[in-house]
Amino acid sequence: MPPRAKFPPLRRRGRPCYSRLVHEMSVAAAVLDAVRTETGRYPGARATRVGLRIGAVSGLEPESLRFCFEALVAGTDLEPLALDLELVPRRNRCRQCDTTFEVVDYNFVCGACGSLRTEPAGGDEMQLAYVEVEEP
Ligand SMILES: [Zn+2]
Repeated sequence: MPPRAKFPPLRRRGRPCYSRLVHEMSVAAAVLDAVRTETGRYPGARATRVGLRIGAVSGLEPESLRFCFEALVAGTDLEPLALDLELVPRRNRCRQCDTTFEVVDYNFVCGACGSLRTEPAGGDEMQLAYVEVEEP
């Protein structure tokens, strides 16, 4: 029997955080469903690579997601399947001057006009960016 995959040492406040991993696992499963759907449109083709866009405030931990993805792909007809993660920074839009800017270190002040009246404008996404398929 091959060695079983071990859970990564994810910890929050000293406790293992399996509930987070369950979230990543369901996202990874949804991604694989999407890959199968996409690939199904090209008879005989197989997926070789999938790209995901993940926002900094999406609540997803990239390494956990990668772990779950690899665990779900292992031993299936989808193997080998590469995963590319593109991390999207948190962004806010200024309600004063309409500038959109990247939020660094929780600084929500508009860099263009100094206004504090800004609102979230991205960084919470979880998007399938692309699926690369190999024609037969
Ligand atoms: Zn502004």
